Amino acid sequence: MYGSVKDELAATLQEIKDAGLYKNERELTSPQAAHITTLKAEALNFCANNYLGLADDPTVIEVSKRALDEWGFGMASVRFICGTQTLHTELEHAISDFLGTEATILYSSCFDANGGVFEVLFGPDDAIISDELNHASIIDGIRLSKAQRFRYRNADMDDLRTQLEAARAAGAKRIVVVTDGVFSMDGSYAPLDRICGLADEFGALVFVDDSHAVGFVGDGGRGTPELFGVSDRVDIVTGTLGKALGGASGGYVSSHQEVVDLLRQRSRPYLFSNSVAPAVVAGSMAALRLVEGSADKRDALKRNTALFQELMTEAGFELLPGMHPIRPVMFPGEDGARRATQIADHMLGNGVYVIAFSYPVVPKGRARIRVQLSAAHSEDDVRACVDAFVKARDAVG
Ligand SMILES: *Cc1c(COP(=O)(O)O)cnc(C)c1O
Repeated sequence: MYGSVKDELAATLQEIKDAGLYKNERELTSPQAAHITTLKAEALNFCANNYLGLADDPTVIEVSKRALDEWGFGMASVRFICGTQTLHTELEHAISDFLGTEATILYSSCFDANGGVFEVLFGPDDAIISDELNHASIIDGIRLSKAQRFRYRNADMDDLRTQLEAARAAGAKRIVVVTDGVFSMDGSYAPLDRICGLADEFGALVFVDDSHAVGFVGDGGRGTPELFGVSDRVDIVTGTLGKALGGASGGYVSSHQEVVDLLRQRSRPYLFSNSVAPAVVAGSMAALRLVEGSADKRDALKRNTALFQELMTEAGFELLPGMHPIRPVMFPGEDGARRATQIADHMLGNGVYVIAFSYPVVPKGRARIRVQLSAAHSEDDVRACVDAFVKARDAVG
């Protein structure tokens, strides 16, 4: 009986609203792209993970449409019963070839990949050492395992060493260092060269979630391991097909052969959840081929990112340093959260979509507007975004 639960839930919802944390969803009436339309207006989009602009790419769409005719709409099965088509195996091989790994296993999402990995590989005798800013799905995945848990301060190599020593002192057999390749609130990279160096010293495995990097970070778009020259050293990479690689859905674990073989036997989100839809698999494969075939989109993304950083700095805004297309525009101090929200709202009103983040999503006093550049933006789009920032600042004061 629903009864008093109704009132309790309504009260919780009200608390969320009172705290200013209620998330209202805006409906797009167009495909995901640099220029979108909503129920209210047209807008320039600077808050999607559509880094390479492949979410509405004509080739990706065409290949995906053809797959509907050739391979059907859905699999209605998990992989190991009757849910594996040639398409699925081909995409797994293509991802392995691209990343230079031995094997790859697809999941319905990277959230599921991260949820299904730790429990299989790490038990009570083992230790998982995790960066404090790691993605929610990593945190949840680690919680599902019975391994001993250690946490180090974001990208802090002294603290990582301390935690590695603690794990060893606790008698851990397998030790794994787990990090996001890119921290999504800061647009900063995990120092993978140094992480791998420390892992070598302590005989630890290295796990990288490269969701905000695969496809566009590194010269070949192979992600943060490529950027730091440690592709051969990283043991386990997870990533998403839901961002740069077409942005539909799906995730993967790419690793040593035995790791992937064991995940196919034991990983619960893989064993007990439906296969990725054929049209999505085919479209993601087309996206991957585009990424492999040309650096043009990566170069456009780099140019847009550099132009935005330069123009915003000239205009007197404070941006976190870096080259990742996540560009946080900072509004520090006590008043920062209010200013960031007002400026983002003003920009939204002028048809530029950006989102403000404040405590508890980011630390107190570190409010920001997170801008995400895309290869799909034109130079004029980037300039229009900067102009909207300046106008909003003038209006808000
Ligand atoms: C987006 C993201 C995920 C989730 O990916 P999905 O495929 O959308 O589930 C996991 N990890 C990181 C670091 C991400 O940025």
